[in-house]
Amino acid sequence: MTARETWTNWSRSVEAHPEHVEHPASTAEVVSLVQVARSQGLPVKAYGAGHSFTPIAATDGYLLRLDRMNHLLARDTTSRRVLVQAGMSLRELNPELLALGLALPNLGDVDPQSVAGAISTGTHGTGGKLHGIAAAVVGVQLVTAEGDVVEIDEQHPWFDAARVSLGALGIITEVTLQCEPAFLLHAREEPMALPEVIERLPELIEENDHFEFYWFPHTEKALVKRNNRVADGTRRDPVSRFRHLVDDELLSNGVFGLLNEVGARRRSLVPRINGVTGSALSAREFTDHSHEVFVSPRRVRFRESEFAMPRSALPGVIAGLQAWFDAGHETVSFPIEVRFTGSDDIWMSTGHERDNCYVAVHHFFRSDPTAYFAAAQDIFTAHEGRPHWGKMNTVDASYLRDRYARFDDFVAVRDEADLKRVFTNPYLDRVLG
Ligand SMILES: Cc1cc2nc3c(=O)[nH]c(=O)nc-3n(C[C@H](O)[C@H](O)[C@H](O)COP(=O)(O)OP(=O)(O)OC[C@H]3O[C@@H](n4cnc5c(N)ncnc54)[C@H](O)[C@@H]3O)c2cc1C
Repeated sequence: MTARETWTNWSRSVEAHPEHVEHPASTAEVVSLVQVARSQGLPVKAYGAGHSFTPIAATDGYLLRLDRMNHLLARDTTSRRVLVQAGMSLRELNPELLALGLALPNLGDVDPQSVAGAISTGTHGTGGKLHGIAAAVVGVQLVTAEGDVVEIDEQHPWFDAARVSLGALGIITEVTLQCEPAFLLHAREEPMALPEVIERLPELIEENDHFEFYWFPHTEKALVKRNNRVADGTRRDPVSRFRHLVDDELLSNGVFGLLNEVGARRRSLVPRINGVTGSALSAREFTDHSHEVFVSPRRVRFRESEFAMPRSALPGVIAGLQAWFDAGHETVSFPIEVRFTGSDDIWMSTGHERDNCYVAVHHFFRSDPTAYFAAAQDIFTAHEGRPHWGKMNTVDASYLRDRYARFDDFVAVRDEADLKRVFTNPYLDRVLG
């Protein structure tokens, strides 16, 4: 990219005009770029796949893309730890791990994200006793504003700040990940009425390794997904190519994309469209490598906001959203995604010391999500919601300080790593103060 070209994120919700876009190939090159930017008084940000919906990666200064730093550098088969360069994408990492007989314990819905980008925003999947991807981090190599290269291991005082760092502490150049033996998942997806899902929630979360559901707004239809590890010796039984084409490409992407184009022009058709989509995705079961089950193609572009709430809040949150839809404010074509994680000890993780439910609202990228997301955020914040750092929100540091017990400790580490705020941008100014 040449100087002052326009940079946009995947969802087209953010635009920036960086003065320089650089693709460093080594930690040493990152160090010298940070030093050059400082000498010119320009801010520095790194971005991965631009898959955040918020302007968390945006800058008009130096934008670094670590796509040439995308290698698996070392592995220890006894401890099952791998050292990777921070720009490696999950799509590159997962097959390499499989070839080593390893896997990450849990993943989100998609895999284009870089390792550094995914951990920095607290990217997560679902699993009542499991955690976000950052919980697998056991080491981080960080380039600070002074150009120092800091090796942060589990004993380092910055460890709990560096795993989910919002890009605020410096440029991450390497990450050590604790993996586990590769495993197969049996996936079971089926429609279920929303009231039944709510009634059976404790059992569905408890009895499945990874439970989530999608609720189709303006209807009582839901699609539940249960993914469970299989016994040793179970054979792979992947989705057939035909079923993949119909369910994942045609219904979830192709036809869904067309319906959204129609819905964007004729909002009154949306409830009927949701009824059709909710019924069209029928039950299916398959067994595959874990990352093949976690990840699905997402070709219909959208905007998203997602908050984590205490699990007990979920029925109230759903009722709040239902009341908003019933009041006829707006029609929404995208299903609402509900996931779960167990509590962790990472200071700025949405899962910090809390068993969560996550509720994610989506909007087709050609429609204005402002009113819907604002109404949803009011409901989420009324239930102690913590926003996903990479998904749209308008909360600020004064709200977040009350949601995160270690907020001030994180800011203190930020002051040590970047007192002059070389790595800040307007989004970080808002959420961190
Ligand atoms: C279609 C889609 C599906 C998604 N599904 C999920 C999901 O299932 N679960 C979930 O939790 N989230 C999900 N997300 C959100 C996404 O995982 C996060 O926003 C993630 O941060 C994006 O990773 P990225 O590599 O694109 O990072 P970017 O968006 O490019 O950057 C994110 C942050 O990381 C920082 N960063 C990137 N690289 C570095 C580095 N080397 N050093 C320091 N900081 C760095 C950036 O500065 C920024 O602060 C989804 C997003 C999309 C578009």
